[in-house]
Order: sequence, then C-alpha cells, then structure tokens
Amino acid sequence: MDWPTFREVNWAFAEATAREASKGARVWVHDYNLWLVPGYLRQLRPNLVISFFHHTPFPAADMFNVLPWRREIVESLLACDVVGFHIPRSAANFLSVARSLFDVTGIERADVDPDLVSEGTALSERSAPTLIEYDGRQIAISASAVGVATDFVEERARDAAAEEVRREMGDMQLILSVGRTDYTKGGVEQLQSFERVLEANPQLIGKVRLMHVSVSANRNMTAYEDTQAGIEETAGRINGRFGTLEWQPITLISRAIPFDDLIKYYLAADVAWITPLADGMNLVCKEYVASRVDGDGVLVLSEFAGAAVELNSAVITNPFSNLSMDQANLHALQMAPEERRERMAALRRMVQRYSVAAWGKDQQAKFERAAQRRLALAEIAEVKSA
Ligand code: UDP
Repeated sequence: MDWPTFREVNWAFAEATAREASKGARVWVHDYNLWLVPGYLRQLRPNLVISFFHHTPFPAADMFNVLPWRREIVESLLACDVVGFHIPRSAANFLSVARSLFDVTGIERADVDPDLVSEGTALSERSAPTLIEYDGRQIAISASAVGVATDFVEERARDAAAEEVRREMGDMQLILSVGRTDYTKGGVEQLQSFERVLEANPQLIGKVRLMHVSVSANRNMTAYEDTQAGIEETAGRINGRFGTLEWQPITLISRAIPFDDLIKYYLAADVAWITPLADGMNLVCKEYVASRVDGDGVLVLSEFAGAAVELNSAVITNPFSNLSMDQANLHALQMAPEERRERMAALRRMVQRYSVAAWGKDQQAKFERAAQRRLALAEIAEVKSA
C-alpha cells in the first residue's frame, strides 16, 4: 500500500468537501478508500455532521491490527457522528478494534432483530453496539445492510426474455456464478468444487452447465491477474477433462454483462452459486432473488457473505469446507420443487423488507439523530458560556 498517496488523495477529497459543504451540512463518506476523510474533514469543518459507511467486512482486532496505519484509520473513523456497517458482526468488530487502540467505551447496545440472527452461521450476532464514546464525544454505530431496488429489478425481470436462454439449455440445469475477479470472491475454490461434484456424480455429465461470470473491476490492477489466471486455468482443465463436442461443463465469461442481460441469466438459472470467502454484503445474490418473480430458483450462499445474515433461507455453505461446498451444490441441483418455492418465498420476503429504499431511510434517520445530538450539544455549550 502506498500510504503517502492514500493520505494525499483522502486530503484532496476532504478539502473539496470542506469547500462545498454548507454550514452544518451532512456529509456521507463511503468505504475504506476514504478512511481518512472524516478525520481531515473534522479538522477543516468541525461542525459538519459526518457519517461513514463501510461496504467491506470490518475484521476483528487480531486481523485489523496487522495494518501499520491502524491508529490513524480508527482515529479518523472516531471523528464521525455515525459509523455504519452492513451487519452487526462488523459493528462489534469495530468496537473491539477501537477499544484495543484508544480509550473508547461502548455505552449502548441493542439486540439484533431476530430475522437477522441465523443460528450457528459464521457471521451471526445476537447483539451489537449502537453508541460509543471517545474523547467526550458520542458516535452512533449502525448495522444496516444495503439492499436492491426491488421494484426496478422486478419490473426488468417481467420484461426479460429469459426463454431463449432456457431453450438453449434444453433439459440441462444451469448453475450461475457472478462476481468480480478478486480472490475474496472464491472463484477458484468454486470451480474446484464443481470439478469434484462432476467427478463423484457421473450422472451429471452432459446434464448441467456452470456459467461463471468473473469480471475484473480494473484491468490495470496487477493484484487480480493471478486470480484471473487461476480461474482460466482451472476452468480450462475441467472443460478439457469432462467436455465433449456437444457439451462443455463451464462457460467462462470475463467481461461485464449489461444488467438487463444479467437478469435473463438470473431468470434462467436453476441455481445461483454465490460463495465468496469474505464479502461485506453481496448484491448479486439479492438481485437473483429479486428477479425471481416466478418464485423458483435456488440460492446457494456462502455464510461469509454479509447477506447470509438476512438470507438464511438460502442453502448456506462454508466455502472453506470442500464437503460443505460439494453437498450444497448437489442439494441445490436435486432440490424438490416445493422446497425450492418455500425457500424462494422466504428469501423474497427478506429482500423486499431490506431493500435499498429501507436502507436509505434507516441511514437518513441515523443522520437526523446525529444532527439533533450536535444541535443539543451546541446549545449546552452556549448556555455554559453565557
Ligand atoms: N454486475 C453486472 N454485470 C456483471 C457482473 C456484475 O452488472 O457482469 C453487477 C451486479 O449486478 C451487482 C454488482 O455488479 O450489482 C456487484 O455487486 P456485489 O455487491 O455483488 O459485489 P462487489 O463487486 O460490490 O463486491
């Protein structure tokens, strides 16, 4: 990491914001690329209402504290009025990291909504901090997962011509995997699982196809070249090993698919196989569910995706376990129609309840409370100085 450049870019964002923001404005900062903005902005404009939303997982102190710049990062986040995460686990981890570095106290916590407690899964928490104190200031901590625009996705799904894809598939089952080319998305591990499943279940040969969409966010980032090479090598090996003139087990797509086309594949896919090793939330799995206006389709979801705390009616799998991965895939392919429909109905209820609109409303409410807290503090200071 080029830390001096990171600082410089963050300072530029903070300066530009400080110039633009009106008196007492609300500033919403997004993701780790801008970790230092809240601290800089607070120096430049002490009275702004600042909220920071983390889109990536926030790890526990043992892992986060590997970063040599941990104090600088956390001190900047503690300059916020609100720090938001997708899931309660990240909020809990943030408090543990902050406590390990500074004299921070947790002053309020709340029970997690029972809908979001998924008994025994990796990211599930029963309670989480909601308010902490540092240096005489209070910082609200929020856990609220970004959702999808369900109305928009449903409307597109109703218009999508998925039949052509289905026709092309014949009586073959389609497994769909969509993600960025990034080692955290677990692409290679997934392909290896598919290979084991084909090896152990010869009846599936010629009967199932995996469409693996792995898009690089930025072709110039050399860090992802190894992942891309790993995916291509593994897919090539599996196609070479099992493929015939009429049938290739894996279709690999390395370019971004326009959203309207993606919806066609969502609708045609018997199984969406979303198994990241770590993921702040994961939108693809929610889009898959939102698009299934027909009420069918099976979602296999990694328990290390933040979305798993909401979508516990998916077939939840542990991508670090070969057995769990292979069994989940087989279970999905063989699932009876009634079970598929029941699970999908439960998933669709959750995706509708926790939509992007619900998230936006929740975040605005957090801003409102923070603005009121600032106002109340300013009034107290005024009374004291009078
Ligand atoms: N996406 C797309 N075309 C593709 C692959 C992905 O439009 O070929 C979109 C997908 O619909 C989703 C986003 O990219 O909205 C990926 O978001 P997600 O949270 O799943 O993963 P991230 O890349 O943010 O970690």
